[in-house]
Amino acid sequence: MARVYNFSAGPAVLPEEVLKEAAAEMLDYQGSGMSVMEMSHRSKVYDDIIKTAEADLRELMGIPENYEVLFLQGGAWTQFSAIPMNLMKNGVADYIVTGQWAKKAWQEAQKYGKANKIASSEDETFSYIPDCSDLPIDDDADYVYICENNTIYGTKFWTLPNTKGKDLVADVSSCFLSEPVDVSKYAVIYGGVQKNIGPAGVTIVIIRKDLIRDDLADYVPTLLKYKTQADAQSLFNTPPCYGIYICGKVFKWLKANGGLSAMKQRNEEKAKILYDFLDSSSLFKGTVRKEDRSLMNVPFITGDADLDAKFVAESKAAGFENLKGHRSVGGMRASIYNAMPKAGVEKLVDFMSEFEKKAGK
Ligand SMILES: *Cc1c(COP(=O)(O)O)cnc(C)c1O
Repeated sequence: MARVYNFSAGPAVLPEEVLKEAAAEMLDYQGSGMSVMEMSHRSKVYDDIIKTAEADLRELMGIPENYEVLFLQGGAWTQFSAIPMNLMKNGVADYIVTGQWAKKAWQEAQKYGKANKIASSEDETFSYIPDCSDLPIDDDADYVYICENNTIYGTKFWTLPNTKGKDLVADVSSCFLSEPVDVSKYAVIYGGVQKNIGPAGVTIVIIRKDLIRDDLADYVPTLLKYKTQADAQSLFNTPPCYGIYICGKVFKWLKANGGLSAMKQRNEEKAKILYDFLDSSSLFKGTVRKEDRSLMNVPFITGDADLDAKFVAESKAAGFENLKGHRSVGGMRASIYNAMPKAGVEKLVDFMSEFEKKAGK
C-alpha cells in the first residue's frame, strides 16, 4: 500500500487512523453484524453514533447550550440559499466578498432579498482581506456574511469584521476545527465537511436557537427550514449516515490529539515551514498579503506558467498529489488541513528546494 501526500483542497486528506478504524468496522460495526452504511438511521445503534458525534463536536468547539448543531446534506452551496431564506426578516443582508465562495453566496442571496456587497477584495484577485473595522452596515441588515477562510485564494479573516451589533454568519468550510473558536461571536457557523473534517455529503450548521423560526415564506422548502431539521435533531429524513459516522471518528481523533488548541499549534508549525520557504525562495512566491495568510490553503507561483505546469507534473510523479492551483488562479496550491502530517509539508519543501536548484534559480 502506498499512500501519497494528498494536498487536495477538497475532498481532502483524512487521518489514517480514522480510515483504518472505519475499514476494520466495515463489515460488522461493533457487533451489530452490519456496516454503518447498511443500518437504519432510526436504530438505537445509529442514534448513539449521531448523538455521540454531536456531543464530541460540542465539547471540541465549546458550543453553548443556546446553539443548535445540525448535520445536513446539500453542501455549503445549499446553505447559500438556506441562510437568506431563514435569516432574512427585513429582507436585507450585508456580504463581504473575499473570494468566489463569498461571491456565490452573495449572488444567491439576491434571489431572496436585498444583498449588499459592503466590502470586496476582488480588485486584487482576492489576495487580501479588506479592512472591516468600519463598514457601511445597513441599519436593516438581518446579518453580515463572511467566508472566513478563502479556500481558493488562501486568505483568512484573522480579525472578525465589526458588524456593529448585527449577527455574523460565517462559511468555515475550509477552516472548520483548525483552531479554537468562540462560537458566541457568531449567529451561524457552517461548512461542508469535505475540506477539513470528513467525507463529502455532510454539511454542519451551528446556529443560535433564537434564529430558528417557523414564520418563513411559503416557498421555503420544508427541508431547508432550520426549524424542520432542529425539531427532528437532524433526523427528519435520512441524514448522510455514513459521513456523519466518519465525522464522529474525526472528532474522537481530534480529542485524542489534544483538541483544537493543539491542532492550531500543529497547523501553525506546518504552515510556517511552507511560508518561510516561500519567503526565502528565489523561484517560488506566495500570492497572498502576509498578514492575511491562511493556515489551511497555501497558493504559490513561480511566475512562469510553463514552469508551474512542470512543477505540478514532477511533484505528482514524486508522490505529491493535487498541487495544481484552482483553475481561476493558476499556479499551485497546497492544502495542508488538520490530517496532513508535518512530514508531508517538510518533504514538499525539500522537493521544492530541489526543483528550484534544478531550475537554476
Ligand atoms: C468548497 C467550498 C464551498 C462549496 O462547497 P460544496 O460543499 O461543494 O457546496 C463553499 N465554501 C467554501 C469556503 C469552500 O471551501
